[in-house]
Amino acid sequence: MQSIPEHAFTTDRPTTLRRARSPVAFLPEVVGVAPDRDGAALVDIAIADGRVASVAPAGSGPALPGDVDLGGRHLWPTLVDVHAHLDKGHIVERTPNPDGTHFGALTATAEDRTRFWRRDDLIRRMEFGLACAEAHGVSAIRTHLDSQEEQGPETWAAFGEVSVAWKNRVALQAVALAPMDIFRGPYAEQLADIVAETGGLMGGVTRATGSRIEDGLADLDALLDRLFALASDRDLDVDLHVDETNYAAGATLPDIARATIRNGYEGRVTCGHCCSLALQDEATLAEHVRLVRDAGISIVTLPTVNMYLQDRQAGRTPRWRGVTPVTELRAAGVRVAVAGDNCRDPFYAYGDHDMLDTFRQGVKILHLDHPYGDAAALAGPAPAAIMGLSDHGAIRPGAPASFIVMNAWSMDQVLARPQSDRIVVRNGRRLAGGLPSYATLVAAEPGRPTEHAAA
Ligand SMILES: [Zn+2]
Repeated sequence: MQSIPEHAFTTDRPTTLRRARSPVAFLPEVVGVAPDRDGAALVDIAIADGRVASVAPAGSGPALPGDVDLGGRHLWPTLVDVHAHLDKGHIVERTPNPDGTHFGALTATAEDRTRFWRRDDLIRRMEFGLACAEAHGVSAIRTHLDSQEEQGPETWAAFGEVSVAWKNRVALQAVALAPMDIFRGPYAEQLADIVAETGGLMGGVTRATGSRIEDGLADLDALLDRLFALASDRDLDVDLHVDETNYAAGATLPDIARATIRNGYEGRVTCGHCCSLALQDEATLAEHVRLVRDAGISIVTLPTVNMYLQDRQAGRTPRWRGVTPVTELRAAGVRVAVAGDNCRDPFYAYGDHDMLDTFRQGVKILHLDHPYGDAAALAGPAPAAIMGLSDHGAIRPGAPASFIVMNAWSMDQVLARPQSDRIVVRNGRRLAGGLPSYATLVAAEPGRPTEHAAA
């Protein structure tokens, strides 16, 4: 098979990319293509001035002098990571999780936040994460930001700077994340104002400060109503951390669905994790899924991090996967996305902000294969719709010509290799530079001993 011509993705002149193979989930406006057994189709993509001009069945695109024949290679749009934690990222070396548990993650992160999370440290780590994401072919990220009273204002100010600096490279949204008991006090109002100024979302995790998720919140309904009132006054969407636990009892997802309906917020709420939903009996699962659907809630599954944290006990092999029942939710018509969550922090020691890797792992963990069907929607169109972005996660006329091109001709080839030789194209041009080195991250760390910086 021919290699990709050297002249490909080097000009703004009109060009047709011939015989590109893309999952039809990424081709919302193409008609008349026959999907292969993987749910992908061969198309001709005309690009001009850095944007997609047309997408048509292979053989029917316009013939232009600089055409590039991709020979049936997989070409995907740049992907969307709808649930990240850029503020926590890349602290694993200085503050590791003591035992790998969820509670260990909470305590280690709180310690690191108190000691280090000042403007320069936040910006340095957020920008490193964004550079990783961009190099892997991620063009939009929604990040949660730890927003406790003593941290929120400084973090949101730093995020504002990063968001402006990166606006032409990675589209960013942020969500205020804090234990729900902050909605008992006056700070919640100040936080909502900060969020509104930055164009962010209201959020939270359904537990109290310093306690475990399974301890519950007796006044959860009132706290949710306050959150929705603050969001509604400022016309903000909502994104919550929900039931990231292996205790089936005390699930808060139904409470959130009822609060969504009670407050007229149908279609504007996203819930991440929802791990314990998988531990409900069949009748309860069906009832909770129905409530989620009726409330128009979108669900985000974070399979790599949930497998890492859930059911972890020293000296014992985990017995369950800890991941969201994606198939049941999708079958009921609920919008579901897969996302990366934490990256090299106490909640997850690994990760590289690579949505293609998240999708590759998600297919295997969640059994999104045999057949693949429209599984690719979880990494592109679904998260883009949740973020309200029409220019990302799909290949459609008018959208930026931003792609991931792989030396893979079938979905099993996409999923079998890490695609380290992928070509990332942004606005019609091949992205140069590659991944940032860990050495640059460590060298810039305040107080770091020099022998580490020189590594
Ligand atoms: Zn999260």
